[in-house]
Amino acid sequence: MNILVLNCGSSSAKFAVLDPQTGLEHLTGIAQRIGSPEASLDWNHGGTKHSKPLHGADHGQALREAVALLRALGLEESLGGVGHRVVHGGSLFSASTLITPEVVAQVQACIPLGPLHNPPNLLGIALAGELLPHLPQVAVFDTAFHQTMPPRAYLYPVPLEWLEQHAVRRYGFHGTSHRYVSAKAQEMLNLAANEGCILTAHLGNGCSATAVKNGQSVDTTMGLTPLEGLVMGTRSGSVDPALIGHMTRATGLSADAVLDLLNKKSGLLGLSGLSNDMRALEQAADQGHQRAQIALEVFCYVLARQLAGLVVGLGRLDALVFTGGIGENSVLIRQKVLHLLGFLGLELDDQANAQAVRGRAGRITHSLRPQALVVPTKEELMIAADTALLVQAS
Ligand code: ADP
Repeated sequence: MNILVLNCGSSSAKFAVLDPQTGLEHLTGIAQRIGSPEASLDWNHGGTKHSKPLHGADHGQALREAVALLRALGLEESLGGVGHRVVHGGSLFSASTLITPEVVAQVQACIPLGPLHNPPNLLGIALAGELLPHLPQVAVFDTAFHQTMPPRAYLYPVPLEWLEQHAVRRYGFHGTSHRYVSAKAQEMLNLAANEGCILTAHLGNGCSATAVKNGQSVDTTMGLTPLEGLVMGTRSGSVDPALIGHMTRATGLSADAVLDLLNKKSGLLGLSGLSNDMRALEQAADQGHQRAQIALEVFCYVLARQLAGLVVGLGRLDALVFTGGIGENSVLIRQKVLHLLGFLGLELDDQANAQAVRGRAGRITHSLRPQALVVPTKEELMIAADTALLVQAS
């Protein structure tokens, strides 16, 4: 049985057809720039890349094309279910779940918490139900893994009434990735599923780190929204919230406009003035671009500082795991961060670090306890595996 995995965002929809048992990907693709004249459907099948213009297609047209494609490739018959990435499950979901009308209503109730992500996620669920009505659907939440955090980690020190009245608390994101790579690290360390003190650093365009104790998330860097925590591609990560008032008074911009700048024009892009892309910044820094150099310094320092802070929730450190596009590929960032964290007993192995790129997993320290690992993340596989499990159980 194969699973169709769908990650429906505001202007793109990623899809994959894969076997949850073997991880074999039969088809991967993305509908990009949805709603614009440059909209396109790009896919990879049998190792060959293809692209088709979609000329201003909306989400419905884009997904109709994607489903027509998997039909044309003879994959529809093999599908046992559809697994959706859903960003915000609030405090309502601590695990993946079969989608029912009640679940849809609950995801709708979480829209105020995830106003940018939940509406397109819900649209994906509605469209998949329309286009593939015979298939059961499953929601896999970015927030679910972090529901085990204790109050001391998830509470903000603000009036407690805000929690009851407005659901103000820390939720955390990238849960599917943190869950997958921490479980892999347990395997690599010969630990049982309920053992180990592991830090996971998911470093992609969005970045977050999590403290995983005995298989459960006990703290994480993202909060009410994915804006909190580490320096990211275009997001600032944690800043003094009074900055928003200051900038509204200083510039006349609205609070929402300043927030938008913190989400879209800050982080690596804002500091460097050049790019949000780590590869481009490493290259520019190497050629002497000072703002790119500063961006890398701040990125690594904030990352190391927050990782060290997360160790408090663990009480001990067995392993630090790097994942995501940067974590899986950037030899330089891992080197800088491990140097900053040397006091924890992490001793970088330069040769192993240089080799752990492009999907290669492994230990990159001489030290064994604690050790640093590179583990390529497989969020689609996790979504497919959860979907298959729930479909079979039902
Ligand atoms: P997303 O969060 O959108 O899934 P990815 O996990 O693919 O993003 O990560 C994208 C980031 O990974 C970009 O900043 C990109 O520059 C970075 N990256 C990819 N390959 C390398 C590399 N070889 N060296 C440094 N950074 C890399």
